[in-house]
Order: sequence, then structure tokens, then C-alpha cells
Amino acid sequence: MTVGVLALQGDVREHLVMLRGVGVAVREVRLPRHLDDVDRLIIPGGESTTIGKLLGIYHLIEPIRQRVAAGMPIWGTCAGAILLAKTIADGRSDQPTLGLMDVTARRNAFGSQLESFEVDLAIDGIVAGTHRAVFIRAPLLEQPGADVAVRARLADGAIVAAQQGHILATCFHPELTDDDRVHRYFLTL
Ligand code: GLN
Repeated sequence: MTVGVLALQGDVREHLVMLRGVGVAVREVRLPRHLDDVDRLIIPGGESTTIGKLLGIYHLIEPIRQRVAAGMPIWGTCAGAILLAKTIADGRSDQPTLGLMDVTARRNAFGSQLESFEVDLAIDGIVAGTHRAVFIRAPLLEQPGADVAVRARLADGAIVAAQQGHILATCFHPELTDDDRVHRYFLTL
């Protein structure tokens, strides 16, 4: 198994370190041909408008959509989750997106960078007990479609993790913790 990490912008290195720790082969994906070598793909956290623009410039949007349509598992963390959503709320109108999951991502739903926080979070079917979830200028997920399983909610009910078949979205950053269980779960998809 070789796991690709989209390496255009964001916390690429942290995902690579986590995956190497789990013991899988990794590949940085910057060009369409790099997708040929990977079985699954992670879209890291970062800045979704920047990553989206670079996805367009490097002609990666259609090749990624085609691979996911053909069954390749994909996981987006934070900005990556925004890029997976069919609809982006509070984004830029010209923001390019992969639009793969039937959900709305509300950008910067907690406010500024100062409103970043950590919380012990239950993630249904993914971790036993709780995961220390790191939220950094995070989005929220809203209006999940009928095919979308909600995996985690904050105490107020806001959705922060969801899965649609082989497509996984988390508004938080497991790659910034010592807890590799969400990465291990992604490898089972
Ligand atoms: N606020 C960023 C965005 O909208 C996401 C932040 C993150 O990935 N930690 O793209």
C-alpha cells in the first residue's frame, strides 16, 4: 500500500511522519502522474483557497475526482475537509474545490486563528474512547446528505467528522497529535 499526501501547501510533513510511523509507504503528490503510484490520498490542513488554486494550476482536480469515482479512498483534514465538500459556505465565490462529499463546509466557523482549541472527542466507529482533537481555524460540516455518516460532533451538536463510503472528512488534525488511530482507520477503507 502506498499512501499519497497532496503536497501543494499545508501540513504535509506531519501526515508523512505519522504515516511512516504506522509503517506504510508514502508518496508526495504534486502532479497528476504522481497519483498513478498511490492507493489512497490525504488532503492536508492548510489554507483551502491556496490549495484549491494550486489544484487547478497543477491540473489535479479532474484526475483526483476520477480516481475517487473509481474507488480510491480519500481523507481531508481541516482545509482538506473543506476541499472535499460539495458546497463551501463563507468561502470565496471563486474557490476551486474537489466537491466529492455531499456536505456543506462552513469555513472559519469558530472565528479567527485565536479561536483555535483542543477537545477530547468521541469519533464513532473510528476510535475507542476519545481522541484529543486539535482545531485550528477550523470549519464545521453542515447539511450531510443521506449517504453521509456523521462520525463526530462537538458538545453543541456541530458536525466535525463525516464519512461517505471511502471519503472521510475531519475538521481537526490527527496528524498534529501522537494518536495515529484515525490514520490507521483511513488505511482500512
Ligand atoms: N481556515 C482554513 C481554511 O479555510 C483551514 C485551516 C486549517 O486547515 N487548519 O482553509
